[in-house]
Amino acid sequence: MERIVGRTRLVLVEGDITRQEVDAIVNAANASLLGGGGVDGAIHRAGGPQILDECRAIVARQGRCPAGQAVVTGGGRLKARHVIHAVGPVWDGGSRGEDDLLRSAYINCLRLALSVAASSVAFPSISTGAYGFPIERAARIAFDAVRELVQEPCRLDEVRFVTFSRGDLLVYARLFEST
Ligand code: ADP
Repeated sequence: MERIVGRTRLVLVEGDITRQEVDAIVNAANASLLGGGGVDGAIHRAGGPQILDECRAIVARQGRCPAGQAVVTGGGRLKARHVIHAVGPVWDGGSRGEDDLLRSAYINCLRLALSVAASSVAFPSISTGAYGFPIERAARIAFDAVRELVQEPCRLDEVRFVTFSRGDLLVYARLFEST
């Protein structure tokens, strides 16, 4: 599924983010930036040890990465030249600022993508796995944040949302069509 906002193409697919041929992929990391399960583990496995080395150097320089923030490394062996490691909020009922933190994570990823001159970027569904954020609410926040940022003409040609299961794709697709 595709749609154009401003001069940016928004694309929705089902797939594995490690295989996307885009300039930058986003990782749903944790605050330690030292790897984990889910999409984080998949990215480090596919991209090789260089990504973790860069993450360690970043942590040594600036400490852990709080929820809502993101950092960028190279892509190691991935097709993507960059990995943007975003830390989403852990779901805790919804009244502890989770929405704003998730929104910040998306916005900060897009800013970092622009700062490294990426013209295409792919997102997984940040926080909706181990971190337990309800997926429909998260997808709405993701679409709103991305749409707002690309409304102003920017240098992003494509923003891709990569869902990892048919169920997640269907939730995303319903919102993608209606917004
Ligand atoms: P979080 O801790 O932020 O919730 P997870 O990695 O547990 O992060 O899950 C985030 C989302 O990433 C989930 O929807 C999960 O199904 C999905 N996911 C896991 N592996 C991949 C992959 N290789 N490509 C794309 N999405 C993935």
